[in-house]
Amino acid sequence: MIFNGNQLANQILQTLRISSKIKPKLGICLVGDSPASKSYVNRKLKACQEINVDAEVFNFKENVGQDQLIKHIKQMDHDGILVQLPLPQHLNKLDIIHSIPYEKDVDCLHMHNLQRILVYGELCEMLPCTPAAVLQILDYYDINVVGKRVTMIGRSFLVGLPLSLLLQKRNATVTVCHRETQKLDEHIMNADIVISAAGQPKLVRNVKQGAIVIDVGISQGEKKGKIVGDVDFDIVKHQASIITPVPGGVGPMTVCMLMRNLCNIWKKKLGQPVYINPKLSEAYLND
Ligand code: NAD
Repeated sequence: MIFNGNQLANQILQTLRISSKIKPKLGICLVGDSPASKSYVNRKLKACQEINVDAEVFNFKENVGQDQLIKHIKQMDHDGILVQLPLPQHLNKLDIIHSIPYEKDVDCLHMHNLQRILVYGELCEMLPCTPAAVLQILDYYDINVVGKRVTMIGRSFLVGLPLSLLLQKRNATVTVCHRETQKLDEHIMNADIVISAAGQPKLVRNVKQGAIVIDVGISQGEKKGKIVGDVDFDIVKHQASIITPVPGGVGPMTVCMLMRNLCNIWKKKLGQPVYINPKLSEAYLND
């Protein structure tokens, strides 16, 4: 089965649509003029339109000073704030993320929010968007990960690390692989579920027959303008029971989860019940 991320994302976005006149506002800081970053920001703006929330983009020159950017962030009065990544080398990513008040950190990258995930997992009202997207895809197919062997390739703050923690909270047995991992292919072949977030085309060439394969990676393909994932799709699609394509898989779901975080910030502010995954079992926080 080939997952259709656009279709599911659209379905979920419809459920998030705000009908009131007063609505949340997302503030996005965009540094420089990388076409990739601009295109990601445009997708976020489009999703905001779809769910009827306001959004404002602040453009900064590539050489913006760290203090200037942080001063601007501190003055923003938006309900949700994000800084489009990656940032130029001269800026300290962590200091900039930490200048966003954690309750407005809609990307859920602030250390305070990551710590909460470590303890409360999916019971948090905000989750890092790409890990949340992967969990949502597993739920869409009703995949119970309890006791399953998951090979997570990549351990970044953005994807691999929080996702491996969230999967452990769902009682999966998670092996985290990274650049220095030896015999990566063995870890891949051993897995019931393979999740790749490395940014290395054709890193995953073979999986166990019937494995579930989730491709988070985004890289420039050999053909100009073509985006590819980490998985050699044409080979692995014949081995996997479920596979996510690139583009059109995890990407649209990630934007959708950003919108869910924004709506949860808004609902919390209004004192309304926030969305929490209804599939969590009572035993979720046992360990
Ligand atoms: P990153 O560069 O911060 O981390 C990459 C991780 O992969 C590291 O932990 C590294 O050790 C590991 N890695 C790299 N090469 C490897 C190899 N040969 N074998 C095993 N591990 C290896 O990147 P990131 O921010 O975590 O993003 C990962 C990928 O996911 C990128 O391609 C990025 O563009 C993509 N991404 C996609 C979405 C989406 O919505 N689809 C969202 C975020 C990131």
